[in-house]
Amino acid sequence: MNIHEYQGKELLRQYGVAVPNGKVAFSVEEAVEAAKELGSDVSVVKAQIHAGGRGKAGGVKIAKTEDEVRTYADEILGKTLVTHQTGSEGKEVKRLLIEEGSDIQSEYYIGLVLDRATSRIVMMGSEEGGTEIEQVAEETPEKIFREYIDPAVGMQAYQARRLAFNINIPKKLVGQAAKFMLGLYKVFIEKDCSVAEINPLVTTGDGSVMALDAKLNFDSNALYRQKDVLDFRDLDEEDPKEIEASKFDLSYIALDGNIGCMVNGAGLAMSTMDIIKHYNGDPANFLDVGGGATAEKVTEAFKIILEDDQVKGIYVNIFGGIMKCDVIAEGVVEATKQIGLEIPLVVRLEGTNVETGKKILEESGLNITAADSMADGAQKIVSQVK
Ligand code: ADP
Ligand code: MG
Repeated sequence: MNIHEYQGKELLRQYGVAVPNGKVAFSVEEAVEAAKELGSDVSVVKAQIHAGGRGKAGGVKIAKTEDEVRTYADEILGKTLVTHQTGSEGKEVKRLLIEEGSDIQSEYYIGLVLDRATSRIVMMGSEEGGTEIEQVAEETPEKIFREYIDPAVGMQAYQARRLAFNINIPKKLVGQAAKFMLGLYKVFIEKDCSVAEINPLVTTGDGSVMALDAKLNFDSNALYRQKDVLDFRDLDEEDPKEIEASKFDLSYIALDGNIGCMVNGAGLAMSTMDIIKHYNGDPANFLDVGGGATAEKVTEAFKIILEDDQVKGIYVNIFGGIMKCDVIAEGVVEATKQIGLEIPLVVRLEGTNVETGKKILEESGLNITAADSMADGAQKIVSQVK
């Protein structure tokens, strides 16, 4: 789960990790009020959306007067920002962070992620802050330094100092930078983060080290024990279809393509997407209806797929192991009766009660193309959609 920058900074503040003073605002008036309360010479008006790259897209503005705060807040609120992380449809800005302007000396990058190869958390640092880290990794990988953290003892002070030295933090600020890193690591562990990215971490004219940006991402499987984090959830930032799916315990992820997929089991769902791609099609979603799905759940899944108006055809690929083929078939029939189905539907069933399942589909009077194998089904749906 993602949260907004201002919420991330709130968490960092609780852990003594340095961030600028700031306030969230939902309207232009609130923005002006916030700037007055901050009382700094320079305020920064920052769009709050769950995506980076806001600066380049015009979502971060430096305001020197109250009037400028008003102008920028008015300009950014309600605007649809298109950044390299939002996709072409962009994201509408509904909240702003009004923050004290920092007198930036240098910008650095600090990130924490789980490194799957070593099964350890790794802190990455670079003196190339402010730019996209992907670009640094591509063009000047030698400028990224890593500290792998032993889970038994946690991040050690010497590791933090070494990283600070490696990324060329000025000597007299190394102590502060190390304290920052250790604090960030603590947040990462205690709050069950999956990603914590500070880009940029800055040194300022008055000799402090702080986070000007904060991107925190949390492990959804740990949210049951992170109530305060869960309170930060902003449903406006999530795909309504995904929210609907989570109510029914369906693993659904919306994608850009036009072939809706209904599959059971995450592995089969992945390979179904692969095989559609293999035959030059584009999946519209990942959907795992799970092992113990009921006809009701399947109906909901089907409805969610059909709510996506990009979808031009549906491929149902079910292996009836725990899940029985006749249950799937009933769900498909029920859903299409409820919503109507005007697009091609290809169904491949295999496993328990496959004959009953096929019979239910045949007798339904629906226009369904049966497939003999996974590849056969993928080819059929791809050609029908084209
Ligand atoms: P994004 O990564 O989405 O573009 P950032 O929060 O990193 O957004 O802001 C982009 C740039 O704006 C930063 O690299 C920094 O140069 C500048 N900036 C952001 N916040 C402040 C601030 N409080 N004071 C001064 N400059 C800032
Ligand atoms: Mg940034």
